[in-house]
Amino acid sequence: MVKVMIDPGHGGHDLGVSAYDMTEKALVLDISQQAKGILESEYEGVEVRLTRSNDRFIQLSDRARMARDWGADFFVSVHLNAFNGSANGIETFMHNNSSASAELREALHRQIKSHIEQHDRITDRGLKQANFSVLRNTYQSMYSVLTESLFLDNANDAELLKQEQVITDIARGHARGIVEAAGLTRKSSESENEEEDDEMKLENWQWEQMAEKVKDMEDEGLLDEGRWHEAVKNHELSNSELTWLTFIIASRQALVK
Ligand SMILES: [Zn+2]
Repeated sequence: MVKVMIDPGHGGHDLGVSAYDMTEKALVLDISQQAKGILESEYEGVEVRLTRSNDRFIQLSDRARMARDWGADFFVSVHLNAFNGSANGIETFMHNNSSASAELREALHRQIKSHIEQHDRITDRGLKQANFSVLRNTYQSMYSVLTESLFLDNANDAELLKQEQVITDIARGHARGIVEAAGLTRKSSESENEEEDDEMKLENWQWEQMAEKVKDMEDEGLLDEGRWHEAVKNHELSNSELTWLTFIIASRQALVK
């Protein structure tokens, strides 16, 4: 089981960047929760936790400690950027002394970029290193990266961040980056198909009507006596039997008319 700790930055009294009627703390929580949902519903062999799943403040050192105590394999801290309104685009960080996290950093950066670029061209600020607290306190025991997806204080980037679909695609970019770096496999669609193949549902009155018809046909010697009527009365027909019987009844109706 691959353990992934996603860390939505800021929270509580710490808003992070606040601009254009949006706050970084709310958007990164949304992105993180969606990324968790995508990973857990679409991929197998992965367990995802969030350092916070609501709007509360957590010390930076505690975020790293939560990941270490759990024994996380991957740590992804999710942020949005700000400068002076003029900078824009995305950049992705690992710790200065880390080289193990390079693959995770590259995969996240590329996936986030390509997912946002389904909406608009953006500035690629590249792969970077920094001595951020959450990276410093995690990189020695897990792959750890911090993402900065667009500048909330930039008019063009903010326009993108306002769109729900962009937020979902940023989440999907994070999920895909983790999937690549962790080598996760997609859940097979078998279980979904089984559900679709589930028993055909008939209402009680439909069963009764079918039982009547079957009785008539048995009386006329068109069906083996007793067997079908019993089965229909007890609602004990497989899907293929039900289909066959429905066909037989429809044919007879057509002939009778
Ligand atoms: Zn931040």
